[in-house]
Amino acid sequence: MEGNAQTEKFVYDFAEGNKDLKDLLGGKGANLAEMTNLGLPVPAGFTITTVACQRYLADGAQPPGLAEEVAEHMAALESTMGRRLGDPGDPLLVSVRSGAKFSMPGMMETVLNVGLNDESVAGLSAQAGGNDRFAWDSYRRLIQMFGKTVCEVPGEEFENALGDAKTAKGVRDDVDLDADDLKQLVDVYKKVFAKHTGHEFPQDPREQMNLAIEAVFRSWNADRAVLYRRQERIPADLGTAVNVVAMVFGNLGPDSGTGVAFTRDPASGEQGIYGDYLQNAQGEDVVAGIRNTVPLEDLERLDKKSYDELLRIMSTLEGHYHDLCDIEFTIERGKLWMLQTRVGKRTAAAAFKIADALVDEGMIDLDEAITRVSGAQLAQLMFPRFDLSGDPTALTKGIGASPGAASGQVVFTSAHAVERAADGVPVILVRRETNPDDLPGMIAAQGILTSRGGKTSHAAVVARGMGKTCVCGADDIEVGTTSFSVDGTTVSEGDTVSIDGTTGRVYLGEVPVRASEVVQYFEGELDPAQADDPLVSAVHRIMTHADDRRRLRVRANADTGPDAARARRFGAEGIGLARTEHMFLGDRRELVERLILARTDEERDAALAGLQPLQRGDFLDLFREMDGLPVTVRLIDPPLHEFLPSLEDLAVEVALANERGESAGKQETLLAAVRRMHEQNPMLGLRGVRLGLVVPGLFGMQVRAIAEAAVELARDGRNPRPEIMVPLVGAVQELETVRLEAERIVAEVVGDSGVDVLIGTMIEVPRAALTAGQIAEAAEFFSFGTNDLTQMTWGFSRDDVEGAFFGRYLELGIFGVSPFESIDRDGVGRLVRVAVEEGRAARPSLKVGVCGEHGGDPDSVHFFHEVGLDYVSCSPFRVPVARLEAGRASVESAGSDNR
Ligand code: ADP
Ligand code: MG
Ligand code: MG
Repeated sequence: MEGNAQTEKFVYDFAEGNKDLKDLLGGKGANLAEMTNLGLPVPAGFTITTVACQRYLADGAQPPGLAEEVAEHMAALESTMGRRLGDPGDPLLVSVRSGAKFSMPGMMETVLNVGLNDESVAGLSAQAGGNDRFAWDSYRRLIQMFGKTVCEVPGEEFENALGDAKTAKGVRDDVDLDADDLKQLVDVYKKVFAKHTGHEFPQDPREQMNLAIEAVFRSWNADRAVLYRRQERIPADLGTAVNVVAMVFGNLGPDSGTGVAFTRDPASGEQGIYGDYLQNAQGEDVVAGIRNTVPLEDLERLDKKSYDELLRIMSTLEGHYHDLCDIEFTIERGKLWMLQTRVGKRTAAAAFKIADALVDEGMIDLDEAITRVSGAQLAQLMFPRFDLSGDPTALTKGIGASPGAASGQVVFTSAHAVERAADGVPVILVRRETNPDDLPGMIAAQGILTSRGGKTSHAAVVARGMGKTCVCGADDIEVGTTSFSVDGTTVSEGDTVSIDGTTGRVYLGEVPVRASEVVQYFEGELDPAQADDPLVSAVHRIMTHADDRRRLRVRANADTGPDAARARRFGAEGIGLARTEHMFLGDRRELVERLILARTDEERDAALAGLQPLQRGDFLDLFREMDGLPVTVRLIDPPLHEFLPSLEDLAVEVALANERGESAGKQETLLAAVRRMHEQNPMLGLRGVRLGLVVPGLFGMQVRAIAEAAVELARDGRNPRPEIMVPLVGAVQELETVRLEAERIVAEVVGDSGVDVLIGTMIEVPRAALTAGQIAEAAEFFSFGTNDLTQMTWGFSRDDVEGAFFGRYLELGIFGVSPFESIDRDGVGRLVRVAVEEGRAARPSLKVGVCGEHGGDPDSVHFFHEVGLDYVSCSPFRVPVARLEAGRASVESAGSDNR
């Protein structure tokens, strides 16, 4: 530790960094360095590393050596700029900006104008040619940002004081306050500051800077940042870098201003000029929606020279990053400065269209293109759209900022959104504009509607990042506290609205939905060559390449003919899991009850004989739909009493009958059976292979039905490929016992029909994974049941944990995401790895797949690729997601092998 502190470098000048150092310098710092080295106009500055932040957070103090390094870099900055920080006569001012590896829009803190105090405010005015108004405006902004960020003074206090100043003057905009007004406002701000902190606003520029740096470090752990990271699955221990940047001023008058821009439309992916500009303004003003911005095109009229330069820079950046970039810039008296860039967030549709377009433009190849999109984005494109065939009339139209079709009850605060959503009510969060404190409500809501702000507003950026439907800038709407009104219609809290994040339309009531274009394409209803929407051809091209590249096969979990048919249209190459239990429900209950209640072998055999032809019919459907492809049928898994009425219901029925003096007859018999079979821990009880071994003939009946169905189809000239899967095996002896009987039945039924039936097992009990070598002797395939395997490895009951303690576990960082959602690589994953290796060692031809929920989870698919499974199996709707992720996994692992 100590030796390390001497050699460790905590501070990098912008000229020293580059875009690949995001881990160390954060995204903002790495890209500021990259732009600096590209020769773009970036104000001078330096970056304090994320490692310094991690050390500060761990030790509660700045690591030794940091202060000295900052002082050195500050001195260098001062000499570059020819000014000293906070010099009373001619001050250098800086911004102190957060910037983590992953962009977390508005989640952490930045303080502008550091270095101003009661004296240097005059020096700043002199620098600006006697512009007192500008100097006092900058000073009041410093006290406001510093107070809020560094000293936790409630932001409203400052906002109210600013509001009061405007009211007193009878003006609407802060630009209408003059130097004297702002000077008075500074006095008020200082009082607010002193009242809340118990001390005066610090006048020493170095102290200001130092405190601001520590505040940025601490902002990594602000509640909203923690919440955002959890939502976006960003690790909690990365820390933020701190960028200290020489200030440039957009608030010097009408020839100055500040703006944000995208090199392409982040909502549609189309090329063009996208951005917002605000004259005579500083930093946050644009995103905060304080005054109305103008579209970026208008800058051409206001300042042609800067506009042209900006367009040139945007094209340089696209050419350099080979991707959509977003940009923050400021114009100081006609001089353009670049303050930030990064590869920009975009909607799912834009991601596909941009990747496709970049291939056409020769900027990237197809391999790169498939890594530019994700399964999560594809899943979003498969969400339903509004069905407008009923011609619903729109209440109003805003800007479609993040696509999707969302309906829900209107709520006006983040807290209400969270409350109602917790009761399972879908809600639409309506705000004038959102700010980072609204994050919990935005997460809870189905969609977000704002009346102010454009595509770059907080609501838009955050919603796009989360893939949440958002309409912003619906400026006809008057948003109140418990209702909003538009064109004479009042919509109150609790009323239902529907918002379309693509068109920006807002409808009263619930609008019905239909399948998206992308789903229609997968269904084979839309020819990609003919589709009007370039999205469909982009998806087609990317999916085709992913299929070309992937090594993993993708099957579906499907129990019925129609599900199997859809899965096949979506690209499934077989069924990885056909559950047989639902086949025991409905009008077959009667037979199942007879089976369970049978007191003699004859009674039991009769019940089984009744079920057998029905089962054969079920399998015929599946094999027919999956002709030529493997179908894995799992023998019955759940405990039998699940097929009987509940203990409580039966007990009540019987009691009532007794009261009426009637005989409860059959119900009484059932009740006795349910009592007899009652288990304390049914998950660990008589189910799966255990049931098969205890109830004679049950598995045999299923095996016979499978084999007969296959033979019937084969005789018809088809090619059924059944695979019989035994659930919940923990010891090879269990499997061997079942296998012996199954082989006998199969041989008897199949005869010379040419049907080949594989027999294998689920690996879902840890012992099975640990004895995989033995089990493989009796199994032609393994299929990892990762739901049960996760449950039994962790000892978590999957039906109980989510509400009970997972929230706390996630908060504590015990895991970043539920192990039922994404495979726990270290624990459960290790069992999978061991079982694959030992299973294949014992039987090289062993087929290995996975059929738990994880089969459709993007991260897990990458893991299954790495450990060398043959296939993943997931629900039909996830099949395209798994295909895409399997393609990405191949490309990415090929890439890392080359390195
Ligand atoms: P965020 O990550 O929330 O965007 P930033 O650190 O980018 O925060 O800063 C907030 C605002 O202040 C942005 O609009 C940015 O462009 C502006 N800003 C930051 N540093 C400077 C500077 N040195 N000069 C002028 N404006 C700045
Ligand atoms: Mg920024
Ligand atoms: Mg299971």
